[in-house]
Amino acid sequence: MMNTIVFATGNKDKLREIGEIIPDCRLVSMAEAGFTGDIEEGADSFRENALIKARAVRSFIGAERPEYADAIVLADDSGLVIDALGGMPGVMSHRWLGERTYPQAMADVLEEMKDVPDEERAARFVCAIGACLPDGREFTVQETVEGIVGHEIIGENGFGYDPFFYLPERGLTTAQLSPDEKNAISHRGKAIRSMKALLEKEGLL
Ligand code: IMP
Repeated sequence: MMNTIVFATGNKDKLREIGEIIPDCRLVSMAEAGFTGDIEEGADSFRENALIKARAVRSFIGAERPEYADAIVLADDSGLVIDALGGMPGVMSHRWLGERTYPQAMADVLEEMKDVPDEERAARFVCAIGACLPDGREFTVQETVEGIVGHEIIGENGFGYDPFFYLPERGLTTAQLSPDEKNAISHRGKAIRSMKALLEKEGLL
């Protein structure tokens, strides 16, 4: 029987990416599973935030959607960690914008870091994925892609903080990679592959 995975996101790109990496399953968005609520993800770790989302959808399904009783619920949480800023924006990566656009927020960071030498500009995108199983078991994985905060905003692809996230070994920002190139190296692509391996090891996929 084909497994059902309910992925706790409204983001179509994330759904497509997970469908490409785990093709042999029936993939359902949380909206398709009937979940329309808001989830407060105020924890201070990516793993805990991912689990908070997965648990909320898991408990909704348990109470309201018996047809998804056997589904594995997955949720992700990601963000950018900048060492020179004490790990900010981290789990606050979206909220930290406030009223600013991404280009404005990145310009503010570049200004704040204008005297920081390259060897102190380390940063990483982090992605955690949480899994809640029908029998109550929970798993998390977390992966990163390492880079530095560059010196300018460059590139048209990707989203969010990609245009100033520079990969020194490639000589490019993640906003200059094609979607396929980014998925091959990104925190999210790696985390989805790790979760797939974990579920396979547990005999769940
Ligand atoms: P989410 O948890 O996947 O919704 O990501 C939270 C925030 O982290 C996003 O709104 C972005 O600000 C930032 N972020 C996460 N992944 C990426 C990425 O691949 N590129 C750029 N920004 C990212």
